[in-house]
Amino acid sequence: MANLTTFQISEIAKDTYVINEAGMSAMFVVKGSDRALLIDCGVGMTDLKAVVAMVTDLPYDVVITHGHLDHIGGAAQYEEVYIHKADADTLQAIPYDDLADYVENLGKMGAYDVYHCSPTDIRRSDKVSKALDLHEGMTFDLGGRILEVIETPGHTPGSCSLIDKKERILFSGDACNVNTLCLGCSVNTLLKGLDNIKSREADFDRNFNGHVGYAGMPLVSSMPETVLDDAIHICETILDGTADIVEVDGLFGRKSMAVMYGAVRVCIDPQRLIDDGEAPAR
Ligand SMILES: [Zn+2]
Ligand SMILES: [Zn+2]
Repeated sequence: MANLTTFQISEIAKDTYVINEAGMSAMFVVKGSDRALLIDCGVGMTDLKAVVAMVTDLPYDVVITHGHLDHIGGAAQYEEVYIHKADADTLQAIPYDDLADYVENLGKMGAYDVYHCSPTDIRRSDKVSKALDLHEGMTFDLGGRILEVIETPGHTPGSCSLIDKKERILFSGDACNVNTLCLGCSVNTLLKGLDNIKSREADFDRNFNGHVGYAGMPLVSSMPETVLDDAIHICETILDGTADIVEVDGLFGRKSMAVMYGAVRVCIDPQRLIDDGEAPAR
């Protein structure tokens, strides 16, 4: 059987689409009556403007949830993108060789069995998108549909999520999922980010993170309902010293320290529970 092309589009709500880029990462297109929004830019194997044009001819802005290579890889296809200032430097030097390694790793994990793609599909560019500031409380009015930005640091210092009250969806990037990685931040910072999501829990029913159908899994779904509370519980127990911190196989065979509870695993740096001068979340 012929493999699929490098992307797969699924409708997850009215006027709401997820673009699964070859199992590498997910992008979302959200439409209002006047404008649309593209959330994240994938690894950059796809002609994004052509793919977005398949689901909308509305003008649109581009928001990056955080500055990891699997979400900024395609950013250079746009003149300007919204990204939090704490992650904005990542746009300066998109690590294309690291991206190629990432594609190869996920390919071997199963993506190559499903998608017709290889690292040579990555669209390298010397261009650097202009970073427009993304911050707490910002809104994108799409016409009859407003998406609000909340700051959800922890996975990266500048991680942000978007809340769509109309379709009651949280677009959480990599900030809150079954395998939450606390990277470049303290556990206390991660807990603050999760608390911020918790404070808006009444506004959403589904939590779509920045990966659907990871590697070769042909699956499109939101995170289990308990993910947020489980992740908060893990952070609380790490900070109060009662967590069982164990060594696990992290991404691509790298060892990591982690705590498991319920549906969630949180990977952390045990040396970085709370930063100097940081106000405790509890
Ligand atoms: Zn990430
Ligand atoms: Zn990611």
